[in-house]
Formats: sequence, structure tokens, C-alpha cells
Amino acid sequence: MKEIVCNLCNSAERRLICTGADRDNPDNPRIYHLYQCVRCELVYLSPRPDTPEELAEIYPPTYESYMMKPGRLLMLMRRIAWRPEIAEIVARTSPDSRILEIGAATGEFLHELRKHGRPNIFGVEFSADAAHVAQSRYQLDIRVGQLEDLDISANSIDLVLMRHVLEHLPDPSRTMKTIARILKPRGYCIFTIPNIDSHTVRIFGEDWYGYQIPRHFFLFPRHTLVRLLTMAGLRMERLIYHAAPNIWIGSVRFWLARRGHTTLARLVRYTNPLAVAAFAPLGALSALLRSSGVIRVIAQRSM
Ligand SMILES: [Zn+2]
Repeated sequence: MKEIVCNLCNSAERRLICTGADRDNPDNPRIYHLYQCVRCELVYLSPRPDTPEELAEIYPPTYESYMMKPGRLLMLMRRIAWRPEIAEIVARTSPDSRILEIGAATGEFLHELRKHGRPNIFGVEFSADAAHVAQSRYQLDIRVGQLEDLDISANSIDLVLMRHVLEHLPDPSRTMKTIARILKPRGYCIFTIPNIDSHTVRIFGEDWYGYQIPRHFFLFPRHTLVRLLTMAGLRMERLIYHAAPNIWIGSVRFWLARRGHTTLARLVRYTNPLAVAAFAPLGALSALLRSSGVIRVIAQRSM
């Protein structure tokens, strides 16, 4: 486990905001701590898993993002949910644009993007198993490892995607600078993250799904996000509030589980189409109030 300081301002001054166990793995006895930097307000986990063994402990093969076979109904719902995101990418690129997805998992999103006329795509993925699925199922160019391991030329990429990835990274400042370097001038970085400024944080407290202890190493209040981008040479073009009900679903599951309603909690999952349908109105309301638990940022390289 590694003690860390603030990734944005290097300060070690902090205040405790939340303590918790790994809610998705009852076999893990550790208690983790989330702190907020007193100077810049970035939220971070410390100490955090760092060695390959410690990381394997928090990303078991059963980790939901690596779920190998999404059902047909779930895939249909995902495709509908992805439409606005696909449209934003298509609007900012041309058919020959070079597009990279960091954390491509099993490749479903890149596969969908290719169907919308963007064939010049590739991905990088930390999990070799997930990358293998993407390669064999969709014949995608997915490289195993981390962005910093790859030899990508400066000024060569038109658009970088990171969907629910930034908050899991060990050094988001460094990754954002790498992204800015490989992007072409005026190229785009579009990323999706949990929104710690959301009203769902106040509703659910320590049961808030966006904390995802211990897998979310960082959470970004709005102004820390602006600072992160500015330091890398990017500027925020747009911030979009997600209508997807996943944060509601996950938080209600944690709330139920904490109170011993384990059977009911098992049904409340975003992989359950019924749960998605039941919580869709709350997701839509949060987005309407510009306070949803998940946000998407469209950032552009300055020059
Ligand atoms: Zn700080």
C-alpha cells in the first residue's frame, strides 16, 4: 500500500472525508480512507493499492467492467444510452480520424463507434483477458498495458476517449499531459467520470456508489477538473450531465446491503435491465437538475 500526496498541487495537507471497505468484495478485510486536499480540494485514496498483487486483489476477474458476455437486452440498452456520446464523437471527427480509447475493456464501445463510420480506432487496456476478448470478438486493435507504456507519436491522435477510467488511474495529471502530447492541435479528449459535486453524494453519504472504494483513486470537484485540464494544456469545451441511472442503482444497492437486505441488493444492479428501467426516471431528473452522479467532459487541446 502506498501513501500519496495530492496529485494536483503536491500538498500533503488533507482532511478525511470518508472511510470504508471494499463493498464489492466482502473477503477483503482492509479499511480504506478517502481524503480531500486542503489546498486544492482534489479527493484521493491514501494509502492505496500499488503492487501488482494489491491491484489484482481489487480487480478480480469478476469485476463488472470485464463482464465477458453482456446479454442482448443489456447491449441494446447500452447502445441507446451511447447514442449522444457517439454523436458527439462523430460531430468532432471525420471518417479518417485516428481515435484512441484508453481502458477499452472488452471493446463494445469501440465496436459501436466503428459501426458509425469511424474505422481508424485502437485501444489500450490494462486487463489482458478483457483485451483478448476485444481482439477476438470484434477484431479490434487493443494493446495490453497502460498509455504511458505505448510508443504513440506526439500530435498524432484526433480524439482520445476515457470512459470511467480517469478516476482509477495512479497519476491522472501525468496521463492528462501524455494525452495532450499525443493529441493533434485542437484534438479532443472526451472522458466520463463520477461527479462528486452531485446531489446524490449528499443523499447517500458513505453509500454513494461513485466512491467505489478502493477502486476510485481520485474524485474531481469541478474546479479541480479545470485545473487538471489547464495544467495539461487542454480547455473544457463542454460538460454533460449523464441521465444514466447507474449511480442511483449502485448507491441503492450499497444502502440496502449495509442494512442487511442482501437478497434485494443483489437484484439492484446496472446489469439488470429491470433495475435500469426502474431507476431511469431518477437518472433523468438528476441530469435535468445538472447534478447527476456521472458527468462527461469534452476537452480540447488548446493549440
Ligand atoms: Zn491539492
